[in-house]
Amino acid sequence: MDAAALDPVAALERVAYLNDRVLAETHRVQAYHRAADVVRGLDPGELEQRHRDGTLTDLAGIGPKTASIISQALDGGPIPYLEELEAKTRIEPDEPDGAALRAAIKGDCHTHSTWSDGGASIETMARAAMALGHEWIVMTDHSPRLTVAHGLSPERLRQQLAEIEEVNDRLAPFRILTGMEVDILVDGALDLPEDLLAQLDVVVASVHSKLSMPGPEMTRRMVLAVSSPHVDILGHCTGRKVPGRMRQVGQSDFAGRVGSTFDAEIVFAACAQFGTAVEINCRPERQDPPDELLDLALEWDCTIAIDTDAHAPGQLEWQPFGCDKAARHGIEPGDVVNTKTADDLLAWAGSHARS
Ligand SMILES: [Zn+2]
Repeated sequence: MDAAALDPVAALERVAYLNDRVLAETHRVQAYHRAADVVRGLDPGELEQRHRDGTLTDLAGIGPKTASIISQALDGGPIPYLEELEAKTRIEPDEPDGAALRAAIKGDCHTHSTWSDGGASIETMARAAMALGHEWIVMTDHSPRLTVAHGLSPERLRQQLAEIEEVNDRLAPFRILTGMEVDILVDGALDLPEDLLAQLDVVVASVHSKLSMPGPEMTRRMVLAVSSPHVDILGHCTGRKVPGRMRQVGQSDFAGRVGSTFDAEIVFAACAQFGTAVEINCRPERQDPPDELLDLALEWDCTIAIDTDAHAPGQLEWQPFGCDKAARHGIEPGDVVNTKTADDLLAWAGSHARS
């Protein structure tokens, strides 16, 4: 083998990661993971032979695009598509204060894995977070009744907690904190039994259904949820989906969705009263809360969380979007729970549980 050869598996997985960074469609990203799996399963001699013979595309799961990445890697590079993606998908804060905020951030309180509707294992997500310089993440997969997102039953949540413990042993001193993105049910109840909620390190509560219910009912629903002693963060408060940033990342036909209506004064007053942080959701299609609502949350002196809601490793890179927004609203590192160490975050999450 050529001494200068790059690792074709690493090249394919980097391409997948960079596609996640711009929220490419899942099936496109999966094609690179699948090709990487095929290469992993071959002996190196066969891979070289097929590269020389030009028969890589005879393998199920390898198409012309993935074959050329493999060949270019085996030839020692360059891999033009990979280089182009690296440059095109790069994410950096636009605002100087956004950059300072991002630099002060130590972790992400809202992430998903293949346990619910994420695209990567807990360990892969954690390793990607480590590569970004994080000290911790909270694993917040979906709750039981969100079946469209493969929400975790209490039994599966217990299994997940065991896996997190095991991965933590391998990755220390990095820490995966336990959590859930618990669904706020229509009546304001939380979609997980009380004893399990109490066991989790950090709980994000979000509305995912009946977004169009009348404002007074939605207000009541959200206030009930954020006043729970177990809820630490109110996730993507309006549930809106906006096309703006999606156009920027090249998805020009993204339609968007109108968010819910609620009395934000009352909801944020409850967040402030019960020590529940308001999430700035960094997903390019969410960007919750809208600017005017974020101003209101700040008037009420709410604590802020800046989270990616990442469903894939490359999406963990989205925090600069939220940091820029926070900076434009004058939010400082001390106002943001993500700047805490894991121990301080746990202490914070534990302290308002008793209020
Ligand atoms: Zn989420």
